[in-house]
Amino acid sequence: MKGRKLLMIPGPIEFEPDVMQAMAMATTSHVAPDFIEVFGNSLEHMREVWKSPKGQPFIVAGTGTLAMDMAIANLIEKDDNVLVISTGYFGKRFQDILTHYGANTTILEAPVGEVVPLEVIEKELKTKTYKALTITHVDTSTGVLVDPEPIAKLAKKYHVLSILDGVCSVAAETIHQDEWELDIVLTASQKAVGVPPGLALLMASEKAIQVWENRKTPVCNYYANWKNWLPIMKAYEARKPSYFGTPAVNLIVALETSLKIICKEGVQKRIERHQVLANAFRKGLASLHLEILPRSTEIAANSLTAVYYPKEIDGVALRSKIARSNVIIAGGLLSEIKTSYFRVGHMGSVSPNDLIAVLSALERALLALNYPFETGKSLNAFQTELLKFEE
Ligand code: PMP
Repeated sequence: MKGRKLLMIPGPIEFEPDVMQAMAMATTSHVAPDFIEVFGNSLEHMREVWKSPKGQPFIVAGTGTLAMDMAIANLIEKDDNVLVISTGYFGKRFQDILTHYGANTTILEAPVGEVVPLEVIEKELKTKTYKALTITHVDTSTGVLVDPEPIAKLAKKYHVLSILDGVCSVAAETIHQDEWELDIVLTASQKAVGVPPGLALLMASEKAIQVWENRKTPVCNYYANWKNWLPIMKAYEARKPSYFGTPAVNLIVALETSLKIICKEGVQKRIERHQVLANAFRKGLASLHLEILPRSTEIAANSLTAVYYPKEIDGVALRSKIARSNVIIAGGLLSEIKTSYFRVGHMGSVSPNDLIAVLSALERALLALNYPFETGKSLNAFQTELLKFEE
């Protein structure tokens, strides 16, 4: 289709046609039996994607930030000590939210492109009694992937709640919430879950619910209070009508469709697809001598890649030339280096063809800007890597 744009930013992403079709259905009542079934199914499918048969899912109209706000508002009380493990912009957002609710925060910030070493986290946990720690699984500002499993283990060892921001990771990176004993795993609809923006999705462990039930002070937030939402989630799952705030009916119908697509593909298979494509894409970038933000490929995310502009290339010119090829990528987000890098999302419905389109648009732009390279090299590197995984 002439003029059709390919959206390759790290969320929102390109959505499956079936998901978009589901969005467009005639809106039903939020207490209609068929919608109750859709809502109940969505809650159940979340457990499968999160690998959390014991968890309590929440689906609430809002964005990823609401899911972060909901976790903190319900679990944290004034003067609680909370440890923030940060690999970029969204780690700091957790600190902001925590400060708003009166928590005492300590932030461990990794240098750009790196992760915080486990020894550093453990050393800090020994210094005082922490109530919770926060982890950003994939910080979308840097494309750095953190391994949550050993951090969740440390949290258990020191009796600290673990809160995982999975906005850029759920359904794209490996997560076993119950097995890893993560207390909260939260995300938003518009990323690898594959639904247009507008839903905050959160899974709370049994322990998290108990901690909330035993709070000493009331939750200082009205909309996000689990007191309002827990009975609603339980009712829909029991296939009973219920109301607190009108659910985003069409988005939830789309969510059910997308979660079914994810479960049909198989969660593990889907994660492997993301990994193969991400690695092949980075081989393509490396063949053009482009450098990525993460210090090593082991800590580079499946869901997006953050790439430095070559020194001799003007970033604004490069991005605008790529846009002229109808490929939409994102600029930098981390304030200190915002103008020195760009980001490409590769999650959800992403296919080899999409990444071929990105690499060829990138090569065309580099060619126009007289960057020295061998034309077609990144496509070759990408295809050669993919071939290794073809059955
Ligand atoms: N955390 C991460 C890792 C994110 O990538 C984002 C959004 N880019 C958020 C939180 C906030 O989500 P939202 O924009 O949906 O509020």
